[in-house]
Amino acid sequence: SAAEARFIANNPLSKAQHDLAIGTLPGGNTRTLLHTSPFPLAMKQGKDSYVWDVDNHKYVDLVGELTAGLLGHSHPAIHATIQHTLTTTGLSLGATTAHEHAYAALLCARFHLDRVRMANSGTEANLHALAGARHHTGRRKVVVFSGGYHGAVLGFGEGTPGVNAVDREDFVVVPRYNDLGLARRVIGGVEGLAAVLVEAVQGAGGCIVGGREFLVGVREAAREKGAVFILDEVMTSRLAPGGLAGEMGLEPDMVTLGKYLGGGLAFGAFGGREEVMRVYDPRVPGSLPHSGTFNNNTLVMSVGKTALGEVYTPEVCVEFNEKADGFRERLKGVAKGSRLSFTGKGSLIGFHFTEDGTENITCGEDVKGKTRQDLKDLFWFEMLEAGFWVTRRGLIALILGTPEEDLDQFVEAVKAFLGRHKAIM
Ligand code: PLP
Repeated sequence: SAAEARFIANNPLSKAQHDLAIGTLPGGNTRTLLHTSPFPLAMKQGKDSYVWDVDNHKYVDLVGELTAGLLGHSHPAIHATIQHTLTTTGLSLGATTAHEHAYAALLCARFHLDRVRMANSGTEANLHALAGARHHTGRRKVVVFSGGYHGAVLGFGEGTPGVNAVDREDFVVVPRYNDLGLARRVIGGVEGLAAVLVEAVQGAGGCIVGGREFLVGVREAAREKGAVFILDEVMTSRLAPGGLAGEMGLEPDMVTLGKYLGGGLAFGAFGGREEVMRVYDPRVPGSLPHSGTFNNNTLVMSVGKTALGEVYTPEVCVEFNEKADGFRERLKGVAKGSRLSFTGKGSLIGFHFTEDGTENITCGEDVKGKTRQDLKDLFWFEMLEAGFWVTRRGLIALILGTPEEDLDQFVEAVKAFLGRHKAIM
């Protein structure tokens, strides 16, 4: 397309880097998600809520590191904590530290957990939560939902595939999210059910919001089977002060966390009811080992505490997500009557291009076969040209402190895009 030709012409250094990188990295990078055709854009710097690519274009960062970059690229409190910890504590010490305990206490209080354990990513958090649930129940099977994404080795959607490194046979996929009747039937029919693992908003699956009745119903169905109800809040914990478990009163047995809670550094955590988390208590004979050299690394523990305790306070969280809801409403208004629609909750925004422009998306199957990838690609190329860094797949994760004017300009850019291509939108 003409837009793709302009992309190639405008980004010679990104292309050159890609050409070099494919010699050492399969496909040129280490995150499948970041691969885009004809080549990914290579960034060289981030500052506040902006990023610059290697060809020196400046962008308003609406990728927000897929929600991990919530606090922006250079929050002074985060930078100060990293520097302070480096000089006063040093890097990892091969021992537990007060930073670890202090952050655990904060996570437990904020997300209503009896006990918590740290990991290095959301993927790890989910793998350990599943292992814990299996150990606790003495069973193996796990129910998940189509479109669900719980990490690189735990993807259950068309756009988010990838059950690798885990045994496929152990997972039973409910073919529609938000369909309680179907979920009840599937859960009820599984022999040896250890856990039900679900997101309160399917993030990577398209920012599809789960209904409260659905989620509570799923929890009850899991409980009836004596299975552990695990809520994956790796993406959604930013949406309310106590995560969506708190806001929606979901009372999960276990919760998994990650992303921004490491203040921009690698992080994951899993926690929940004492009765379940006890399986990880090394004082208990037969308990489950959970090690990891970097689980409690000093920088992440101290930075995480600053991120959650000082920067992303409950008040800041509420105000930020309310504003974000307003932003999504404005985008929806601009897109009304077109093939573009917006989904999500608070600062998590999904955009979709479908044949009929449906706004009512309750599960991935609602848009199956209707997605207009050609329009999505065009949108990506043209938003880059307009100075907005968005994901190719359709996720916007807002950054705290992005100036209102930048968001206003994005709304204008979307409006201009739809006007420019009226004939095909
Ligand atoms: N769970 C959810 C809901 C996610 O969105 C993600 C990442 O996008 C993960 C788990 C995996 O987290 P990580 O990429 O830190 O392994």
